[in-house]
Amino acid sequence: AQVDTLDIIVLVVLLLGSIAYFTKGTYWGVAKDPYATSALNGSASKKGSRNIVEKMEELGKNCVIFYGSQTGTAEDYASRLAKEGHARFGLNTMTADLEDYDYENLDTFPEDKVAFFVLATYGEGEPTDNAVEFWEFINSDPPQFSQGEEDKPLKNLKYVAFGLGNNTYEHYNLMVRNLDKQLTKLGAKRIGVAGEGDDGAGTMEEDFLTWKEPMWAALTQAMGLEEREAVYEPVFSVEERDDLSPENDTVYLGEPNKNHLENTQKGPYNAHNPFIAPIAESRELFTVKDRNCLHMEIDVSGSGLSYTTGDHIAVWPTNAGLEVDRFLKTFGLYEKKDKVISMKGLDPTAKVPFPTPTTYDAAVRYHMEICAPVSRQFMATLAPFAPTEEAKKEMVRLGSDADYFKEKVSSHMLNIAQAVSAVHPGPWSGVPFSALVEGIHKLQPRYYSISSSSLVQPNKISITAVVESVRIPGAGHVVKGVTTNYLLALKQKQNGDPDPEPHGLSYAITGPRNKYDGIHVPVHVRHSNFKLPSNPSKPIIMVGPGTGVAPFRGFVQERAEQAKQGEDVGTTVLFYGCRRPSEDWLYKDEWEEYKKALGDKLIIFNAFSREGPQKVYVQHLIQQNGKLINDLLQQKANFYVCGDAAHMAREVNDVLAQIIAAERGIDQQKAEQVVKSMRSSGVYQEDVW
Ligand code: FAD
Repeated sequence: AQVDTLDIIVLVVLLLGSIAYFTKGTYWGVAKDPYATSALNGSASKKGSRNIVEKMEELGKNCVIFYGSQTGTAEDYASRLAKEGHARFGLNTMTADLEDYDYENLDTFPEDKVAFFVLATYGEGEPTDNAVEFWEFINSDPPQFSQGEEDKPLKNLKYVAFGLGNNTYEHYNLMVRNLDKQLTKLGAKRIGVAGEGDDGAGTMEEDFLTWKEPMWAALTQAMGLEEREAVYEPVFSVEERDDLSPENDTVYLGEPNKNHLENTQKGPYNAHNPFIAPIAESRELFTVKDRNCLHMEIDVSGSGLSYTTGDHIAVWPTNAGLEVDRFLKTFGLYEKKDKVISMKGLDPTAKVPFPTPTTYDAAVRYHMEICAPVSRQFMATLAPFAPTEEAKKEMVRLGSDADYFKEKVSSHMLNIAQAVSAVHPGPWSGVPFSALVEGIHKLQPRYYSISSSSLVQPNKISITAVVESVRIPGAGHVVKGVTTNYLLALKQKQNGDPDPEPHGLSYAITGPRNKYDGIHVPVHVRHSNFKLPSNPSKPIIMVGPGTGVAPFRGFVQERAEQAKQGEDVGTTVLFYGCRRPSEDWLYKDEWEEYKKALGDKLIIFNAFSREGPQKVYVQHLIQQNGKLINDLLQQKANFYVCGDAAHMAREVNDVLAQIIAAERGIDQQKAEQVVKSMRSSGVYQEDVW
């Protein structure tokens, strides 16, 4: 079939616009390479390299894209903007991790260059971990710049801003809003509007796509740029190494970094360097049709990893064999999956997001988020590499028509291999491997609220995780969560369960070179602000339906232990919710044990949503117990909410304001102010996802 003229025009436009999608992760950055050995020692930056103005000069760059990223999305958008700025407008772009630079010399930023800021807002209007220092600097009063000029020190700085937020949180996109305000105050000039993406509404990608076109137009004008025809240029060279076999001890088969490859697992363990932890124990808390929940005890003895009650543990997953094979077959890589490859960045700022030499199989299995939702822009970018003209046409349509894309791809929750296979069964051997690495996210660790108390078990971290499994009506497939199904497989193996490969997903349980054998999982710990009051006699109120109860098991375990040790423990109220007492009641028997230690101090309200004629949720029980809650708040109780951010947490917030209004005889608006100030003073704490 022929592609008609209109399609060619659409294709060219898309190519111009979306070639940029070919970059994800850190490759366009001078960001520190998470796999470099130096990163393990804490400091990756060499002397002098923290001055961004100098760095850009040295590398011949005129556009820097800073990112503040927690889960990788902001970093990904930064990379896409960098690639697009270069491909379409000839900008010499680089991305930069905010934590790798100092900011006092932003006042020497040249007038003919531009800085982008792509900033995610985290939790309660907080900066992402890598943006904390920048945030503190820019909000200091006034920031101390190198030239000491007080009036409009940033008058030469041109900037572009995009924020990633979630409207279910109170401080929606606070980071970008505040940045915009501060930079303007300091005399900088914004190009285009400060964009805002909303994860809460599920429109992040579309918000980003809609924002960037007018932004490019404004930037073109402000900098006198000319748009040019973009042609795909790979970011990485991929060399197949006939001189190396996978058995060679320099070849990475999934080891996260050099230490692990050389068999010298060494701390400190952190987001760049996981500890391969033994799983001491694993079991299912409940199993009903299509739903199950895991409890695991992760042994961190001797690792130097420590936690306090309320922290998070991150689990580094491995993709399911079924999905790895599907991906490799779809892109014509299956036959050579164990071939050794070396990859290098073709630009000095491009960093390969995993260590090489490696194999296609190891790269896909351990480092690429191949099961995630597909981006519309990425479909358009793959169009030129389609195996037939017909397929190319279809990819162009999917890339350009948001409704059609929704109907064909997102509503079925297809992953990338499924989505392109639905267009053409393949193989799609024409897609360069570099393009796949550029276009697919780096596999991210998943966080879990630690469900044990560090007072009771300092070296064993409990996880309470529900196994993600979404059946798509009519689509004939089930979307399986990457990490939780991997954990389920580990649990099955550990317990010698009859079906050691749940749902035929077949994980490489023993890890690269069998280094995870004996049931191990790579983890690190992230400290949180979700904390018990330091004085145990203070009352606490906890709201945690479903797996939202995880940290509260830790809290109650801790208070029970304190009571046993003779401490004066305050009233401890838990609102818990599940479907039915006989089905999914988490830690049902354990609560009885804690009750023995805490006596009347422990009050648990259970909401069962599918038990009686009416659905009862935690919000209802909170409403019914307004007096108790208000009394405890007046005795300086802390109020905690954990679990579903989209609905439950928001409703609990509203119900609390209603209670306060009713009990204290104040109007609703004033009650809302009370709740707000509880939040800002740390009396009301959330751990939601
Ligand atoms: P993923 O593979 O990440 O999939 C998650 C969901 O994304 C799927 O269920 C599906 O709805 C969607 N999805 C996946 N693929 C596609 C696709 N191709 N197209 C469209 N949609 C898709 N969870 C707990 O169970 N217990 C806890 O204590 C806990 N604590 C947390 C604490 C924090 C701070 C955070 C941020 C999260 C916490 N979570 C917790 C959630 C947890 O981190 C994981 O998100 C969860 O376990 C799912 O991970 P997964 O890898 O199994 O699923």
